[in-house]
Amino acid sequence: MPERVAVTEYSAAKTQTVAQTIVVKVGTSSLTNPETGNLSLSTIATIVEVLSDLRRSGHRVVLVSSGAVGVGCARLGMTERPKTIAVKQAVAAVGQGRLMRVYDDLFTEMKQPIAQVLLTRGDLVERSRYVNVYRTFHELLNLNVIPIVNENDTVAVDELKFGDNDTLSALVASLVDADWLFLMTDVDRLYTANPRTNPDAKPIDVVRNLDELNVDTATGGTQWGTGGMETKIAAARIAMGAGVRTVIMKSDAPGNVLKILAGESIGTRFEPQENPITARQRWIAHGMVPAGKLYLDDGAVEAVRNGGRSFLGAGLMGLEGEFQREDTVRLCNIHGQEIARGLVNYSHTELQKIRGRRSDEISQILGYDGEETVVHRDNLVLMRKALR
Ligand code: GLU
Repeated sequence: MPERVAVTEYSAAKTQTVAQTIVVKVGTSSLTNPETGNLSLSTIATIVEVLSDLRRSGHRVVLVSSGAVGVGCARLGMTERPKTIAVKQAVAAVGQGRLMRVYDDLFTEMKQPIAQVLLTRGDLVERSRYVNVYRTFHELLNLNVIPIVNENDTVAVDELKFGDNDTLSALVASLVDADWLFLMTDVDRLYTANPRTNPDAKPIDVVRNLDELNVDTATGGTQWGTGGMETKIAAARIAMGAGVRTVIMKSDAPGNVLKILAGESIGTRFEPQENPITARQRWIAHGMVPAGKLYLDDGAVEAVRNGGRSFLGAGLMGLEGEFQREDTVRLCNIHGQEIARGLVNYSHTELQKIRGRRSDEISQILGYDGEETVVHRDNLVLMRKALR
């Protein structure tokens, strides 16, 4: 069990004076009234004030806001979230514009320019598009604009969906090289179980190692949102790996962000990994959508995991999926547990032929010169154990 600590060890002075890149994510349940579906204007206004203050103090701020579907439903008088994709996409188109209008009105009061950035997973898959999105964020932040990000629900197709904005916000935090990711939600922190239904649920203040975290996340999001604690922990995992400190906190007191930056212990804080992965590795690990699986024998697992070596192919026990060269694949042990992810140098049909053979046999089997490695170590990222 992670310990409860009252004081934080990072320097309050440092976090206050050094300009930080801060990503704040707010969910639908925080932005809308669950009974009426109408916008919770006072919460939104407070968030706007806090973010504008942060901007004015020199921080770089990105807001990831859900609510397109929820607000669209309210506008159209729907009483529950639509189930079919086409209706959801149509409703999101209604809601996104309204949401931005409200944000723009409120941020204009604070003289704070904003921008709308709508993303789909496909925008991060291709390296050139990923780099392009990175540049856009960079310029917006240089211009002192607060980008307001949401998934482009109206056009996103299922296989290229982030699915929930917790994941999206972590990917954005990783993309912009953020110092902080604040996941604002309707509970004040992470508990060992759902505090609404389990009186024994204990609060967790700091998480340093997600592999040691033992929580029951069996409750999903609210009727209107799509997240829940599970997606928040998955988001924290992405962010921690990218060197981003992540906090789960309650959205009804957004001013707590300032207190947390000043060193107070509020909410649940996830400490970033000590050796965060590089920008290119982040793209491989989280931007790409894996197209297949390679099953490695124990020797190859050992070489990749502990030796940090390229995967040569001799230890390939089996494969799954239809992938092409340069696609991302999961490298798994024989039990199917993912140990690394990387860009593969051969298609699945080529790999079927060269499976279990030595590197020097490859050109003879294929009839042409291939790469020496199946996945080169420069294109390989070790994955931490997934939360079960
Ligand atoms: N993109 C969705 C929306 O704006 C929300 C996804 C989520 O709830 O995480 O409604």
